[in-house]
Amino acid sequence: MSRKKILLANWKMNTNYNEAVTLAQEMDYERKAFAGIDTVVCPPYISLKGVGNVFAFDKSPLMLGAQDVFWEQDGAYTGFISASMLKSLAVSYCIVGHSERRHHAKEDDKTVGLKAQALLEAGITPVICVGEPPVVYEAGSTREFVSEQLSVALEQVEDPQNLVVAYEPIWAIGSGKVASPLHVQEVLSALRAVLEARFGAERAEAMRLVYGGSVMAENIHAYSEIEELDGFLVGGASLDAQKFAAIAKNMK
Ligand code: PEP
Repeated sequence: MSRKKILLANWKMNTNYNEAVTLAQEMDYERKAFAGIDTVVCPPYISLKGVGNVFAFDKSPLMLGAQDVFWEQDGAYTGFISASMLKSLAVSYCIVGHSERRHHAKEDDKTVGLKAQALLEAGITPVICVGEPPVVYEAGSTREFVSEQLSVALEQVEDPQNLVVAYEPIWAIGSGKVASPLHVQEVLSALRAVLEARFGAERAEAMRLVYGGSVMAENIHAYSEIEELDGFLVGGASLDAQKFAAIAKNMK
C-alpha cells in the first residue's frame, strides 16, 4: 500500500501575527521542496486567517492546520474554538492530544477522541498524538502505553476516514534526543495493529503514521527504511522555513 507522505509544522505558541504571516510567506517561497508531500502548517489560532490568506493568495500547495479544537459545536464555552469554526477558515488538518496539551490542559484519551470525532464530522483530518513519558520508555512499556492511549481515543471515533496518528515520545520533544529507528518501527507496528483491530485491515492500512520529536533534516535519514512511517510532525525546526524545507527535501 502506498500512502502519500505528510509533513506537519507545529508552531506551538510561537510567532505573533506579523511573524506568522512572514513565516508563511517564507515557507511558500520554498514550495518546490514540498512537492509531492502533503505539507501542513499549524500556526497559533490568531494567525490561522492570516496564514490561510497567504496560502490562498499565493495559490500555495501548503495546507492550513490547527493545534487544537473543542469537541462541542457551539454554545457557552468561553475561550474554546469548534471544528466548524476551524472549517470556516479553510483548516484541513488539526492536531489533537499533543503531549503539551495533555500536560498543561489535562487532556485525556477520551477527550482526545471526542475532539477527533468532532473534526471528522466537520471534514477536518485529525492528527492524533500519542507518546510515552521517560519512565514508561525506560521500563520498556511504550507499546502497551501508546496502544492504550490510541484505543481509548478511538472508542469515540465512528468513521475514521483518513485520520493521521503521530507517535511523539515525550522525552524526545524539544530535547534534541530522538527515538531509534528500531523503537519507532516497533511502536508504529503496534499503533497500526490498534487501527486494524478497531477499523479492519484495509482501512487501517490507508491511514498515515508519523513520528515527532526533535526532527531535523540531519537526523531523518535514519528513518527512511521504516515501512510504516509516512512522515513527520515537526516543532522547533518548523520555525525556520529553510530548515523545514530541508526536512522535506530529505524525505524524498
Ligand atoms: C512537537 O511539538 O510536536 C515536536 C515534535 O517538537 P520538536 O520537533 O521541537 O521536538
